[in-house]
Amino acid sequence: MKNVAVIGLGAAGLCALRHLTARPNLFRAVGFEQSSQVGGTWVYTPDVHTDKNGITIHSSMYQNLRTNLPKEVMAFPDFNFQKSLPSFIEHHHVKDYLQDYANHFDLMKHAKLETQIQHVEPRRSANAGSVGWRITYKKVQPSAVVAETEDFDAIIVCNGHYSVPNIPNCLGLDSFKGNTMHSHDYRSPKSFTGKTILCLGAGASGIDIALDLSTVAKKVYLSHNKAKLTSELPPNLIQTAGIDHFSEKIVHLKDGSEVEVDSVMFCTGYKYTFPFLKQFSDLKIFDGRVYPLFKHIVHVSAPSLNFVGIANKICPFPTFHCQVQFILAHIDGSMKLPTKEQMLKDIEKDYVSRKMKGMPPRHAHMMVGQMQWDYNDDITTLAKIPPISTAVRSLFDKIHYTRTENLLTYKNYNYDITNNSYTEI
Ligand code: FAD
Repeated sequence: MKNVAVIGLGAAGLCALRHLTARPNLFRAVGFEQSSQVGGTWVYTPDVHTDKNGITIHSSMYQNLRTNLPKEVMAFPDFNFQKSLPSFIEHHHVKDYLQDYANHFDLMKHAKLETQIQHVEPRRSANAGSVGWRITYKKVQPSAVVAETEDFDAIIVCNGHYSVPNIPNCLGLDSFKGNTMHSHDYRSPKSFTGKTILCLGAGASGIDIALDLSTVAKKVYLSHNKAKLTSELPPNLIQTAGIDHFSEKIVHLKDGSEVEVDSVMFCTGYKYTFPFLKQFSDLKIFDGRVYPLFKHIVHVSAPSLNFVGIANKICPFPTFHCQVQFILAHIDGSMKLPTKEQMLKDIEKDYVSRKMKGMPPRHAHMMVGQMQWDYNDDITTLAKIPPISTAVRSLFDKIHYTRTENLLTYKNYNYDITNNSYTEI
């Protein structure tokens, strides 16, 4: 019997608990969640900065968000969304879905809510000297001062990676007199009515927030360094070059042009952070890379420490479903991990192949195009589990195409998956 701690109960942590608790003869699982309900980033709050218990707000969800993937692609393979919902759903439908998943698999009796993990440190366990872990946690209510400790054989880290803002060092930003904000703190367009805003970054959030703002703003600049979006856009949403520097009232762009704006919204992504693992010096985070993780999951020198959801630009829930089973296959001994040297070589090979594709170091965990399917085939073959279905793959790829074609209309369509193929309905 292995004692396993799951840190964080968003989609990834719930998925870990679901598979651990399905095998009660092998695993005893405890899921720790700092907030008062499960669902992670899908638990919308109008609050920013800190919550009633003084805990930093985790969710980056905003009021008008509709998913950018259809529910047929988002679903865990063993639990469907309500069929009556449209394909592209509102954020609260996803929170409800995750809470239904938790209830369906009876996970809440294994969850400790309002409990924040403070430290995770390696220890030698009594049996056979193998490395186990001591975790220290604390109830988050202001009145709770006493920290508790508990020992585990393995840890599955599911603390989410869209919470701690990454703001680039822009020359002159300190002297800029307009408002600045990161997309993490964006909730609603209301306070931007009639204003001119520059959104920096044309990733999924940058584009979606710029579109949301354009419904009330005078003008929105979508400033980025990528190739121009080819989709039709609202007339008051204008693409510009990336930012070069700021002066008091003006944003100076890389192509030499300048714009005067009321606000700048940094849609510049998030940082990987594991504050509870600070003292574990064998885990390194540099250049947006978490190292050394075999298959973006297993810590090479301490394989009982595992991470779900580090790989990004993926089909999240189905990938978590596979990553979790990959973890359990090596913890239960049914899949033998390669030697430490082989795992390090594999990490290097993956890293170099990205470099050869022209990807910058900060994209060490990013899956572009075919990469996520090759990755999925790789981990599911190793763990001898079913891969993500071909229907989900082809619908994911189709949406990537329809989104590029027309950002304004791609969410109007509905899909169904039957007999391992999708149809538009
Ligand atoms: P999270 O949902 O972030 O959960 C992590 C959990 O860990 C949180 O509940 C947090 O409170 C807890 N935690 C953190 N630290 C501690 C600690 N020390 N102790 C205890 N608990 C802790 N995906 C899609 O599939 N479709 C979409 O349309 C889509 N849209 C998105 C829009 C936005 C704005 C964002 C931010 C993300 C979106 N995603 C979307 C991606 C989304 O992040 C994933 O779908 C998925 O929900 C991530 O789950 P997670 O469990 O990895 O992380």
